Amino acid sequence: MQRERRPTLLGGGFFKKPPKGARYDVVVVGGGPAGFSAAMYAARFLLKTVVLAEEVGGQLNYTDWVDDYPALGRIKASDLVRRFRSHAEDLFGVEVYERVRVERFERVDDTWFRVTGTRGLDVYAKTIILATGSRRRKLNVPGEREYAGRGVSYCSVCDAPFYKGKDAVAVVGGGDAAFEGAILLSGYVKKVYLIHRRRGFRAKPFFVEVARSKPNIEFVLDSVVKEIRGDGSRVTSVVVVNKVTGEEREIPVNGVFIEIGFEPPKEWYQSLGLETDEAGYIKVDEWMRTNIPGVFAAGDCTSMWRGFRQVVTAAAMGAVAAYSAYNYLTEKGLYAPEASLLSKQAGGGA
Ligand code: NAP
Repeated sequence: MQRERRPTLLGGGFFKKPPKGARYDVVVVGGGPAGFSAAMYAARFLLKTVVLAEEVGGQLNYTDWVDDYPALGRIKASDLVRRFRSHAEDLFGVEVYERVRVERFERVDDTWFRVTGTRGLDVYAKTIILATGSRRRKLNVPGEREYAGRGVSYCSVCDAPFYKGKDAVAVVGGGDAAFEGAILLSGYVKKVYLIHRRRGFRAKPFFVEVARSKPNIEFVLDSVVKEIRGDGSRVTSVVVVNKVTGEEREIPVNGVFIEIGFEPPKEWYQSLGLETDEAGYIKVDEWMRTNIPGVFAAGDCTSMWRGFRQVVTAAAMGAVAAYSAYNYLTEKGLYAPEASLLSKQAGGGA
């Protein structure tokens, strides 16, 4: 059973949307660490802030444990999501709405953008912070689409328990996600094949060492997946080709976990007038400014620190984006904090 998305039923914003025509200093698009950090800081600057998210948690929803977010030690990813949200919502008075997708924004005058989206979303923003993350990359091989959700998964962390006691699975990729997945799966499944297209890994050395120490993880290197086969109802094998020797091998497996990174929705960004880098990520400067004045971006959707996507880097980018939004509003003479915002913050904003 594959679950591409894990809905989080936190707080009261699940089925709600902001009132039509509502006006905000900052509309944050996206509910991952970058989005919540941006929202928290924006609220700290007494900016009226809303988070509009398709899904609260972002990539943390696809991770099990986080043990490299400073000062928190080892924490369940789901707990960290809860903390991010609660910090922004409960302590700083940020409005949060989920299950709503922003589809467009356009400038209507010198002050306002109109932001529209699914479920009749129609609000106004003085600034926008895009923290839209990225989407999972596909292998694009025969059998992948056919068996999606029937043995083909894009989230080891979500689906590993469904493979408890099975004979074998394959994990494709050489980054942190593939290694984290392979290590997790090695506790559930008798045999894990880690298939990677070269011999070097992007994954952190720690992950590589742990994976190497597991007797039931076999590395299939310099190899690409040619096809995923099944019996019409579920995956039964994966066909790999060694790029060096040309040798083809069919490996019997019960599941294939594709953990080969992310790709941005480049066409959408470009249709909004945003400049992207060569890989399609939103181009930002060191202050998280995009090419559109008043629009900022943070986290995995940006060109910043590509190749090192961490919760702490996303949160840092979000904080900087909020600071830049505040500076933008101040410089343009648009900063007009409502007194009520101060009282919304726990402790009166001290
Ligand atoms: P990633 O770091 O981009 O790695 C993707 C891997 O998939 C690479 O090894 C790449 O091979 C391979 N790949 C890409 N396209 C492929 C294709 N078409 N066919 C076969 N292989 C392909 O992605 P990720 O592992 O999903 O991680 C994304 C970000 O999240 C990273 O910044 C990572 O550090 C972070 N993350 C962190 C943790 C953690 O710290 N606990 C856990 C998960 C993810 P090449 O190496 O040859 O390019």
